[in-house]
Amino acid sequence: MNNNNYNELHDASHSFEAVIGLEVHSQLLTKTKMFCSCQNIFGKEPNSMVCPVCLGLPGALPVINFEGVRLAVKAALALNININKKSLFARKNYFYPDLPKGYQISQYLDPVSSNGYLNIETDGVEKRIRINRLHIEEDAGKLIHIGSESYVDLNRAGTPLVEIVSEPDMSSAKEAVSYLKELRDILVYQGISDGNMEEGSFRCDANVSVRRKGDEKLGTRAEIKNVNSFKFVEKAIDYEIGRQIDLILSGGNIIQETRLYDSKENVTRSMRGKEEAHDYRYFEEPDLPPLILDEEFIEKVKNSISELPQSKRKRYADEYALTSYDCEVLTQDKNIAYYFEDLIKVNAVNNKGKVEIKKIANWVINDLLFALKGIENQPALKKGNMPEQEDFFNLILEVETGNINKNTGKIVLTEMLLTGKKPADIIKEKNLAQVSDEKGLEGIIKQIFDENSKELTDLISGKDKLFGFFVGEVMKKTKGKANPKKVNEILKNFIEEKKN
Ligand code: ADP
Ligand code: MG
Ligand code: ZN
Repeated sequence: MNNNNYNELHDASHSFEAVIGLEVHSQLLTKTKMFCSCQNIFGKEPNSMVCPVCLGLPGALPVINFEGVRLAVKAALALNININKKSLFARKNYFYPDLPKGYQISQYLDPVSSNGYLNIETDGVEKRIRINRLHIEEDAGKLIHIGSESYVDLNRAGTPLVEIVSEPDMSSAKEAVSYLKELRDILVYQGISDGNMEEGSFRCDANVSVRRKGDEKLGTRAEIKNVNSFKFVEKAIDYEIGRQIDLILSGGNIIQETRLYDSKENVTRSMRGKEEAHDYRYFEEPDLPPLILDEEFIEKVKNSISELPQSKRKRYADEYALTSYDCEVLTQDKNIAYYFEDLIKVNAVNNKGKVEIKKIANWVINDLLFALKGIENQPALKKGNMPEQEDFFNLILEVETGNINKNTGKIVLTEMLLTGKKPADIIKEKNLAQVSDEKGLEGIIKQIFDENSKELTDLISGKDKLFGFFVGEVMKKTKGKANPKKVNEILKNFIEEKKN
């Protein structure tokens, strides 16, 4: 291709826009499966968590797991989706070795909830993404391929899922990722899902099409299946948008199909033609009654929803004047958010001293999270094993009041994380307290003056650079424990005296 052609193509690509709709499958954190009493646990010995119902043996009858319904309704309410008081289960028929019944119990024409929305923010721009529906279904089993052989593990068969289908309202890979993160945050915060993309408990299919800007009609879409990280979702969608634009510009046609993302090569590849709903021969599940929910139940579930991350971010910004970055980091993990809020409570009630909230936020973001990362691999410490709020707050106070300096604070923090000891005990045991006592420091400084009389004369006669040298000497003598502010003060006074 010559340069001219390339530029034309490049310009032409700007006249397209992308359209993206996402289907998310999220496992529910129930104790048991959706239609039988088998345990819902990940990572057990293959085929050890199965029974006649989830194996699809003849005559076995499903029973609705009410905890699964409760979590699905909770998810729908947290996502502003209308609850349908009457919904139906349906059979979605297809053949696959991980689906012993030959059909999946799902919801089709009458889902448990429909018509909602999620507000997302991408690069500072807010946007409302409509949600078409959230319905309940069961997961399939898993195929494991080892060498040239394939095995079936049915532990996952029958695990409760919600499928959340967005309208095609996103127009970039970044927006898709914002939507997914927001959605996952909400489900994890509310204890509905563990949101683990690698283990597959939170999965996403991305539907992508492109059209010329200004066109009303949607282009033909490709569906990219089960991409297992946010990074890959972004890359897969970006690749797919580029592929479709290139194909159209070179005179080709997009076909509706299912594609797989290959993260090694960063490409999507055709997997199969896209099946249509009628291929599944949906019909109402004859073994289950309609699902009827009453107002009282819905109200009760609504009241069990705790503050959503979005609202926390807004509140932190409004009440504590934190930056949007701070709010983002603090609310990414609900444990961190609640931990931070607990620290603020401790700050409010304790009578030893008050710390600015911005400083508390900095300690959590820059020091605690950093320290947790640093020792993640140490066997003594599991991630999320945070110090008692009181202890951490006391550590902050030790530094803020000048009893130890910031660097020593970091050392104490690591020690706290590893041993669970209280900051005051660590400081005492390791003799880490700053030397702030004036008499003591004066003595040390005088001694240093004696040992460095030439430098002292130079400093007095105006070689100001040597001031730092003396501060350094004091630090050396006190093994870094001298309170730097005090040292500066005393040194300054001495030098002034000597100059006069
Ligand atoms: P299925 O994929 O199971 O057939 P749907 O027809 O409900 O299910 O659509 C699935 C997803 O595809 C929805 O999230 C929807 O927003 C999205 N979608 C539909 N048409 C397009 C399109 N032309 N471009 C991008 N996304 C689309
Ligand atoms: Mg689909
Ligand atoms: Zn079972």
